[in-house]
Amino acid sequence: MSVCENYKNVEEKVIQACKRAGRDPKEVTLIAVSKTKPMSMIEELLPLGVRDFGENKVQELTAKAESLSPEIHWHMIGHLQRNKVKYVVDKACLIHSVDSLRLAEEISKEAGKKQVTVSILLEVNAAGEESKFGITPGETLSLAQEIAKLPHIQIKGLMTIAPYTQNPEDNRIFFRNLRKLSVDIAQKNIDNVTMSVLSMGMTGDYEVAIEEGATHVRVGTGIFGERDYSI
Ligand SMILES: *Cc1c(COP(=O)(O)O)cnc(C)c1O
Repeated sequence: MSVCENYKNVEEKVIQACKRAGRDPKEVTLIAVSKTKPMSMIEELLPLGVRDFGENKVQELTAKAESLSPEIHWHMIGHLQRNKVKYVVDKACLIHSVDSLRLAEEISKEAGKKQVTVSILLEVNAAGEESKFGITPGETLSLAQEIAKLPHIQIKGLMTIAPYTQNPEDNRIFFRNLRKLSVDIAQKNIDNVTMSVLSMGMTGDYEVAIEEGATHVRVGTGIFGERDYSI
């Protein structure tokens, strides 16, 4: 199947999941995760009106951003090193993967130099997996309070990468808990913090994530096919 057909299939499943949950599909942004994939595949999707793409490496994001349509919204979804922040602050519409005060301080500093305000999400390791980046649920409120004091940065919500599993139902509890955490933080009414974005759900589990309140799902394989890391 073509990339466009895959995209339309995923989009239809997004709509069906919204229906099951009594949600408006307009509340959910489908991010096409194009990491490792050629620019030609991204260009195939542009005539459909697709504008949200996700990348996990700074160099790949900036190279694609410089070559492709300025209308594209680039989502930085991968682990971000402080020394690379300067390349991405004015290219990404949303940085999904902030997991420390030091990283946020660097983003704030570079955003100030470029006179932009950067929207970020806090990455939460919802299942407590050793191998994953992200803060614990228990650390999230205090980190939000610290980052909120920085200029040129706005916290828009939370992101998580759920465990890899064959059965998406296994991840429902993590999505539900992340939503609860975002509601709790929203109720604190912290300046510069909204909890309007919940970035959760990938190819294997995005339907369950939407049922549990995801506003942004990040789908790679389901749209572009398997990735080849050997090249
Ligand atoms: C690669 C990646 C995705 C997409 O994964 P698929 O399983 O291919 O849909 C989503 N989120 C993050 C953070 C990723 O790195």
